[in-house]
Amino acid sequence: MSHRNVNRITLARSPRGLAKHSRRVLAQHHKRHVKRETFRDCSRRCVYCSTSLGLDHATLDHVYPLSRGGDHAPGNLVAACLACNQLKGSMLPTEFFMRYPWAGANFVRYARAVHRTFKRGAKRAVSLHYAQAA
Ligand SMILES: [Zn+2]
Repeated sequence: MSHRNVNRITLARSPRGLAKHSRRVLAQHHKRHVKRETFRDCSRRCVYCSTSLGLDHATLDHVYPLSRGGDHAPGNLVAACLACNQLKGSMLPTEFFMRYPWAGANFVRYARAVHRTFKRGAKRAVSLHYAQAA
């Protein structure tokens, strides 16, 4: 037996490509799952304008925007229509609710699974809006 033969042993191909693929598929499954759960928790509505939505028309909104340091925790996720999602943009929830109190009122009503800090903040922002308007 020479060393050359030993070096020529072919190793099984690494399944890295496949593993990567299934990770991606798993991530997609997870995302869909999160969206369905969030959608259900929000009574299948946009939590800002209260419009009934189909799952296909619902978008996931990060209450505390990712761009301002928010996370993907379920308590930070709500279902929203595209229009409200875009209207809110990267505004903080309190800024948004101060400007659009109807959104805050609907949010308190429909965003059932959201973190209670956000609900409290929304209530405060809505009453502040009306206090300033008076
Ligand atoms: Zn909406």
